[in-house]
Amino acid sequence: MERQALQRAREAFLSGRTRPVEFRLQQLHALQRMITEKETEISSALKQDINRSQYDTPLLELIGIENEIKLAVEKLAEWAAPRPVEKNLLTIRDEVYIQPEPLGVVLIIGAWNYPWAVTLQPLVGAIAAGNAAVLKPSELSEYSSLLLRALLPRYLDKDLYPVVTGGVSETQELLRLRFDHIFYTGSSTVGKLVMAAAARNLTPVTLELGGKSPCYIDKDCDIRIACRRITWGKFVNCGQTCIAPDYILCEPCIQGRVVECIRQTLLEFYGADPKCSADYGRIINQHHFNRVMSLMEGYTPVVGGQSDASQRYIAPTVLKDVPPHSRLMQEEIFGPLLPIVTVSDMDDAIRFISEREKPLALYIFCSDKKAIKRMIEETTSGGVTVNDVMMHYTLNSLPFGGVGQSGMGRYHGKHTFDQLSHQRACLVRSLGMESVNLARYPPQDRRRARRVRMALNTPLIDMSKRTLVWAVAATIIVLGLIRAKVSSILRNKNPVK
Ligand code: NAD
Repeated sequence: MERQALQRAREAFLSGRTRPVEFRLQQLHALQRMITEKETEISSALKQDINRSQYDTPLLELIGIENEIKLAVEKLAEWAAPRPVEKNLLTIRDEVYIQPEPLGVVLIIGAWNYPWAVTLQPLVGAIAAGNAAVLKPSELSEYSSLLLRALLPRYLDKDLYPVVTGGVSETQELLRLRFDHIFYTGSSTVGKLVMAAAARNLTPVTLELGGKSPCYIDKDCDIRIACRRITWGKFVNCGQTCIAPDYILCEPCIQGRVVECIRQTLLEFYGADPKCSADYGRIINQHHFNRVMSLMEGYTPVVGGQSDASQRYIAPTVLKDVPPHSRLMQEEIFGPLLPIVTVSDMDDAIRFISEREKPLALYIFCSDKKAIKRMIEETTSGGVTVNDVMMHYTLNSLPFGGVGQSGMGRYHGKHTFDQLSHQRACLVRSLGMESVNLARYPPQDRRRARRVRMALNTPLIDMSKRTLVWAVAATIIVLGLIRAKVSSILRNKNPVK
């Protein structure tokens, strides 16, 4: 099944039908049509998978995909066109450009937490760049996976973009095959397996992984607003978001107020009993329910803490004074638990962040511009949002991706197109102007070597400046000579009496 899917996709790719930009545009329009016409079915699959509210489906899943499609449709001709670059003296009359070209067949392996966004957003870039793609959605978001498998061939080219469903063994089978790029979204542990499998075929990878994204709250910022934004980012999708703020860092003097503001916000968002709120999600399966519950062991939450295994419900939970070396602070939580770790000041927060793995996202709540700049300069992360959470993800002008253990490669907008294209270096010369080339051929002497060095070392931009100076100087000299000559003629015609 996996092998056939790849073979079909490869043959369709080799037929050359993805090459014309018009074909890619037509596929992108068809993908948009699928989202518009099937929004209700997609919403109900997400409701069954993860108890996602119908209003959250467009906000958290579909708008991002639609924006990607809209931008690709608008910009595709520009992105796919040859990109002229600087020349040197030896290539001054030649065509020199970078030609983005398709890689071939891309394998897209998705995670379950945003099953449509993490598979279809890379697919938009794969289609735009002229690739075929085999999609492997996560088996954990089963309803969404089956719906994707049923819908995609009804809208897109059946051979170019097959969907393979199944679990770990199917993914492993796919990883044994040879693709031209693997785009993986999921945990760092599986990310390493994907990279090892890709290495056997020298296949390049994009790894969109996770990790612990810190959220620093400065004591002088508007804590009420900060906590409202953090509460939304942490508890949306029941905490199962790769760029959710994983934990809070703040000084002990504001910890109590932070807890109170989060408590109040939770009441505003989900009412007195979040279990009854249509806006509050559920943990994806029993395994993850047990994992998140075990992270809470030994703590008394200051907010929440209730659970119901039969529904895989865990209340939005806040834990204060969490020791930095506790288990809760060792692994990505990926659930609705929000630990607060206290630090003595901003320097201490910077040290805390820098001593750990490079996170996927960093959040800073602070009103002092200098301090914000310093914190950005002295830390690193895949992305950073100041005075909000997760919003950098919504801009497709910004590259989205991790660094170090949180991933490699980037996507969104043109970044996906570039990530899934080969940037081919093209130099198209003519057989003329051979005299200019003589300097590089043997036998070499000092003069020829000097000329070659100048020709290869001088980028056109410098050369044209120099040419301009010479041209101006030559014009001045020639004009001077003409003037002298005219004066002498005039003098001869009208000799001084
Ligand atoms: P998951 O269990 O659904 O796994 C993801 C994919 O890997 C699935 O398609 C699955 O079939 C495959 N897989 C699982 N085990 C495998 C194995 N042993 N060998 C080969 N393939 C295997 O998802 P997950 O890993 O639980 O996803 C959660 C993680 O993903 C979190 O760490 C989260 O932060 C991260 N994530 C990152 C992003 C991002 O954009 N950076 C987005 C969403 C999720």
